[in-house]
Amino acid sequence: MSSADPASGKNHRVDPESFRKSVSMFATGIVVLTCEDDDGQVHGMTVNSFTSVSLDPPTVLVSLKPGKAHRLISRNGRYGACILNEGQQSFSAHFSGRPQEALLPDFVVRKQLPTLRNCLAWFECETVEKVQIHDHTLFVAQVTACGSEGGAPLMFYGSRYHRTAIAA
Ligand code: FAD
Repeated sequence: MSSADPASGKNHRVDPESFRKSVSMFATGIVVLTCEDDDGQVHGMTVNSFTSVSLDPPTVLVSLKPGKAHRLISRNGRYGACILNEGQQSFSAHFSGRPQEALLPDFVVRKQLPTLRNCLAWFECETVEKVQIHDHTLFVAQVTACGSEGGAPLMFYGSRYHRTAIAA
């Protein structure tokens, strides 16, 4: 166990590299968040901090550092979340700031918010609470609509992408 100073939030005995490596052992899926920009165009951002919080009411959260999506979601109070399938690694790269020349993302409004036309599952979310934790903000949101399609997930583990053997 390590010592912590709750007042400052500093834990002097956890090395950042060790934390990064250890936390990377938690396998996640990959989500592209979608939101509307100032011109009404869709803006996307890659995250792996998406998580389910409660079933009733259906609630999720994402943890975002300051940036364009953070600003737009703060302003709009809502976001789409699209779980990527194993064939969509280029989407993850593209929406994390490494543009993929050949990629033409296609969005569709299923109920009220744009989400990727093709993905493993999609969610339309309305923010119910914003919680500031150090340099990140948790956007806790109620799911107002969702759906899933067949396929296998794109996974992130050990700071690398993985494909699984999960059958569709
Ligand atoms: P930008 O970097 O400006 O936008 C994202 C990129 O998407 C830009 O290159 C932009 O040109 C492109 N883009 C957006 N919309 C469109 C469109 N409609 N058509 C074409 N191109 C478009 N960060 C977090 O804060 N929290 C996380 O949980 C998190 N998880 C991550 C997980 C993984 C696996 C990876 C690779 C990155 C993760 N990041 C996370 C980092 C985050 O994805 C990047 O920092 C991202 O660039 C921040 O996006 P932005 O909206 O702030 O701004």
